Amino acid sequence: MGCLFCNIINGTTPSTKVYENDSVYAFEDINPQAPVHVLVIHKSHVETIEDLTADNSSIMSDIILAVKEIARTKGVDRKGYRVIINNGPAGGQIIWHLHVHVMGGRDDMGPMVVR
Ligand code: AMP
Ligand code: ZN
Repeated sequence: MGCLFCNIINGTTPSTKVYENDSVYAFEDINPQAPVHVLVIHKSHVETIEDLTADNSSIMSDIILAVKEIARTKGVDRKGYRVIINNGPAGGQIIWHLHVHVMGGRDDMGPMVVR
């Protein structure tokens, strides 16, 4: 029970680690939608963007700075890549621990959304 991604951070649920620092953990998406598909999460549990405030806004800067490192590690920093947050039910969020998808490894990542 509890939060799946908190369980990944504490090791209760296994994952394939891509990057970690004091505040951020990143791992391979279990159902990759692109050659590179990494999930980046903060070690502080917040559910959605709606839970961000001026007091915890470092969550997003910590995540985005990690994205930069991950893109370099995965070799997509020069070519480019897509960064996605599915936020809330209409946004397609299914895991309620704020996370960023880093997707790349193709020459063209395609249309931004399917109409
Ligand atoms: P979303 O909440 O829609 O942004 O997406 C959640 C993402 O988590 C999906 O891309 C899933 O494939 C991924 N996912 C779910 N469970 C796991 C897991 N145990 N390990 C890695 N990725 C997962
Ligand atoms: Zn959590």
